Amino acid sequence: NRICVAIDGPAGAGKSTVAKLVARKLGLLYIDTGAMYRAVTLKALRQGLNLDDADALTNLARETTIKLLPGLQQSVLLDGEDVTEEIRSSEVTRHVSTVAGVPGVREVLVNRQRQMAGETDVIMDGRDIGTVVLPRATAKFFLTASAEERAQRRAKELADKGYTVDIDKLTKEIQERDYKDSHRAVSPLVPAGDAIIIDSSGMTIEEVVDNIISWIEK
Ligand code: C5P
Repeated sequence: NRICVAIDGPAGAGKSTVAKLVARKLGLLYIDTGAMYRAVTLKALRQGLNLDDADALTNLARETTIKLLPGLQQSVLLDGEDVTEEIRSSEVTRHVSTVAGVPGVREVLVNRQRQMAGETDVIMDGRDIGTVVLPRATAKFFLTASAEERAQRRAKELADKGYTVDIDKLTKEIQERDYKDSHRAVSPLVPAGDAIIIDSSGMTIEEVVDNIISWIEK
């Protein structure tokens, strides 16, 4: 039987950092589903699409190819173009929850995610992996941390890349995105009933990784 591990949780909880490390230690393919929603959002913004037009966004998602290249860099190809950096821009970040709230867009991307999980052993991170994408996952985790701590971590990540950051603005943006993700009509961000909830506030990355691995190996 295939191993599939689901990691869900709010923005900045450390999902991708932790998932990459678990993937490397257990030999799983890491799949960043947020990158797929970001890629569709970037394309929509570039085309100047009206983000209230659900049909246009759904068609756009359908006719877009997104490739996640495995490896440390986690490169993302949008119709063949490397958009790894661009999908992290603040413009994409500000609009991605709107695009991700369109049922048709979710349907297209969820189908592709399920297909990927059917091909190899995976660890997938997102918002609806344990609830919708892989309801029969081998193990499900819901990773959280306080909003302040999540903003601090994001700030450090951005600062390390040379960006200047306004911590209050960042906290507000994270809270707004979480609110939207948790209150949308389709697949809102909630822990699956059978998810193991880990609050990583005050934990080191290694502690979280070890904790997750010990649950998977149970
Ligand atoms: O994980 P990341 O912060 O890159 O995700 C960006 C956005 O994509 C989230 O805020 C959410 O709106 C959307 N998303 C989603 N379902 C997923 C993954 C991401 O709705 N499985």
